[in-house]
Amino acid sequence: VSERPLLAVHGGAGDLASHRLRHPGRQPYEQALARALRAGQSILIRGGNAVRAVTAAVTVLEDDELFNAGRGAALCADGSAELCASVMSGRTLRVGAMVGLKRVKNPVLGAALLMRHAHGLLYGGHGDDYAAQAGLEMVSPDYFVTRMRVLQWRKLRGSRRIALDHSDGMSQGTVGAVARDRRGYLAAATSTGGLVNQLPGRVGDTPVIGAGTWADRNCAISATGKGDAFARIAFARRVADMIELLGLPPEQASGRVLAEVAQVKGRGGCIAVDATGRLSTPFNTKQMLRGWVVGRGNPVVAILPGESVEVV
Ligand code: ASP
Repeated sequence: VSERPLLAVHGGAGDLASHRLRHPGRQPYEQALARALRAGQSILIRGGNAVRAVTAAVTVLEDDELFNAGRGAALCADGSAELCASVMSGRTLRVGAMVGLKRVKNPVLGAALLMRHAHGLLYGGHGDDYAAQAGLEMVSPDYFVTRMRVLQWRKLRGSRRIALDHSDGMSQGTVGAVARDRRGYLAAATSTGGLVNQLPGRVGDTPVIGAGTWADRNCAISATGKGDAFARIAFARRVADMIELLGLPPEQASGRVLAEVAQVKGRGGCIAVDATGRLSTPFNTKQMLRGWVVGRGNPVVAILPGESVEVV
């Protein structure tokens, strides 16, 4: 059992255009992932808890418009951005989730705040109002809409097609983090703008506890991909059950459940860590933006299968 804290993040699974996978195209992604890892790492190495670390890491990725969360979120069929996020503590099993937000600058902070409340999930304007009353930074709905997202949405507008926001090579996706703190406790957080051209009001797996996000005493999981498929099989909780009840390592458990997602035509991936610090980052898309950092080490980031690039 490692006593060193560990943090992993993802920036979405998908099929990026090849020019974005070569330098210099991939650099902004790598740097953003490394920044998110550093933000969470600095909390963990000072003895901060896993919930704070995952929240801090996801906040950095929400603020970066390259990712489909917070500013730069994928747009719904009506051209608006609707944000969803969730956080779960593996120590207390407390959860906070928000769906359909339009005004909280950092949806993950809204979700983290709600963790302290007896309610686990708030929707729409009620979530925005809760966050505003608690003093979180609020923005106008336009803040989330970037030029790149408008161009991406225009390609699908009026059609019934929906897409993983990163399947057209224009950007990357949903973001998430899992952490194991110095005391061995785990947490997970996930944040998204959903699928490109989704119906307004559509909710995927990200804010659904047990689907896109799960943490308990044994493991923490954050998923990305075609959320409807992940939700149908209760992805994250199913991985957790395989780890706990079958004693599988995260790699085997998440790989098995990802194969089940594929059976219902879902594509995507996840990051999963267990209480002993074993990490797995499987995906069945061409790429998944991901990274991890152990103890005081340098962040390591990866996009293609089998990669690992240390960011010094
Ligand atoms: N899982 C997200 C959703 O379905 C999308 C993504 O991961 O990119 O809303």
